[in-house]
Amino acid sequence: MKNIIFIAPPAAGKGTYSNYLKENYNYEHLSTGDMLREEISLGTDLGLKVKNIIDNGGLVDDDTITELLKNKLNKILGKPFVLDGFPRTLNQADTLDNIFKEFSIDYIAIYLTINEEDALKRTLGRLTCKCGRSYNINNPEFTPKVEGICDSCGEKLIKRNDDNETSFKVRFNTYLDNTKHIIDHYEKLNKLVQIDAMSGSDNIIDELKKAIND
Ligand code: AMP
Repeated sequence: MKNIIFIAPPAAGKGTYSNYLKENYNYEHLSTGDMLREEISLGTDLGLKVKNIIDNGGLVDDDTITELLKNKLNKILGKPFVLDGFPRTLNQADTLDNIFKEFSIDYIAIYLTINEEDALKRTLGRLTCKCGRSYNINNPEFTPKVEGICDSCGEKLIKRNDDNETSFKVRFNTYLDNTKHIIDHYEKLNKLVQIDAMSGSDNIIDELKKAIND
């Protein structure tokens, strides 16, 4: 099974489908956003440094995020993984190429496409659980069975601090500015697979299965 890099705007489904691959195919889910949120909740120096940036929808600097990712990647080498939230800049994509070359890691880049209006609606409806599951009160397919409670582990669902309209706008614009270059990069390398994030979960899962087994 191929390693995956997910490229997508906020709330397109990176977390949801990473979790699907983790539960069904034993993929390791490496989310740089989750790593940063963990640092914040542990109150580490790094967490304190990045909290405001994240709450306001900005990007953490490339060196900090790359260091964090390398540490996690080192721990799971040899297992299939999904990279969720990295790379977000062309510089990060170049760094990743070098890491993959160094460790002879093969991969595909999956681009989940969604327009701004749908992404905003999903962002405002998103709830997450600390076990990794994501829900969406604006999407009947992903509404929890009991309001505010995780179907899997029974914990209370949480709304992310940055899932508000102001922060979304910053994140979406940052995404638009950077993504074109990243998409071109993976297209040139012949590594890009595009999936419509609004095409329904059954179709998305079929497309994912095709992509990882190709
Ligand atoms: P996510 O959970 O992927 O939506 O990420 C949440 C926030 O974490 C982003 O809005 C950024 O502030 C920060 N972040 C996550 N991944 C990266 C990255 N690769 N580069 C810079 N900042 C990141």
